[in-house]
Amino acid sequence: MKYIDIHAHVNFAAFRDDYADVLKRAHDAEVTVINVGTKIGTSKRAVELADEFPDVYAIVGLHPIHTEASQHDEEEIGGRGFVSRGELFDSLEYKKLASNKKVVAIGECGLDYYRLNSETKDIQKEIFIKHIRLANDVEKPLMLHIRDARLNDSVSNQAYEDAYEILKREARVPMNVHFFAGNVAVARKFLDLGATLSFTGAITYGKNYEEVLQFAPLDRLLSETDCPFVAPHPHRGERNEPMFIPHVVEKIGVVKSESAETVRTAIMENARRLFFSTSLSTL
Ligand SMILES: [Zn+2]
Repeated sequence: MKYIDIHAHVNFAAFRDDYADVLKRAHDAEVTVINVGTKIGTSKRAVELADEFPDVYAIVGLHPIHTEASQHDEEEIGGRGFVSRGELFDSLEYKKLASNKKVVAIGECGLDYYRLNSETKDIQKEIFIKHIRLANDVEKPLMLHIRDARLNDSVSNQAYEDAYEILKREARVPMNVHFFAGNVAVARKFLDLGATLSFTGAITYGKNYEEVLQFAPLDRLLSETDCPFVAPHPHRGERNEPMFIPHVVEKIGVVKSESAETVRTAIMENARRLFFSTSLSTL
C-alpha cells in the first residue's frame, strides 16, 4: 500500500450504507485505513471492519466528549451534529477488544475543553488515565484527541498542558496526537515526549497549520482524514473518506518544500514504526 489514513471513522453511521464501497475505493487507491472508535459501539464496529477487510485496522477507546451527556452542533465539528449520551469506560471490555491483533492502538482518548465545563474536566482526566494504563498494559500506542477552549478569539493551551503532564507521568508507550492544532511551543513539548503529530484535510485550506508543519520534522508526521469530517480541498464540504488522503500528503509536501513522494514514504515509515512494529508486515 502507498498511503495510510491513520485516523478514519468508516465505523460511523455516516458510512452505514456504503462502507464496503468506501473501503474498496481506499484499497484501489492503495490507502491502508485505521478506523478509530469513540465509544464502545463504534470501537466494536471498528474491530468488525478490521476483521472483515485485510488492509483495515482498528483503534478502540472512549472519546473525551463521550464521557458526558452533551450536544455537538454542526459548526463545531465541521458538518453533521450529534448528541452524546455519555458513557463509562469499562477497562475490561476495552481490553478484550484491544487483544485483537488488528487493534493497533488505544483511543481516541484525551482531553476536550472546547466547551469548557470545569466539572467534567476531572471525569475526562480520570478516563484518560484509564486509557493510558490500558495502553501500558497491552503495550500498544495511544491515539490522542486533545482540543482546547476558545476564549475571546484566542486559543488556550490548557488541554494540551494538562494532557502533557498526565502523559509525562503515566504513559509508557508511544503516542500520536491526532488533528494536531497546537502552536510550535506545544508541538515541541509533545515531540520531546516522543509523539508523532497527525494532520487532516484542514491543512489544505487556511494557513493556520503552516508554521507548525514547517517546524515538525518529517519523521514525526502522519496523515489522517478524520472522515467523515473535514474533507480536504477540492472536496471541502463533501463527506470525507480515506481515498482523499493524497491531498493531505501533497499539502504537507508543499508546506515543507519536499516532494509528495518524499513525504509519502516518510509517513509510511512513521506509521510502520508506530503501529506495525511487531508482527504485522502487510502495510
Ligand atoms: Zn476522530
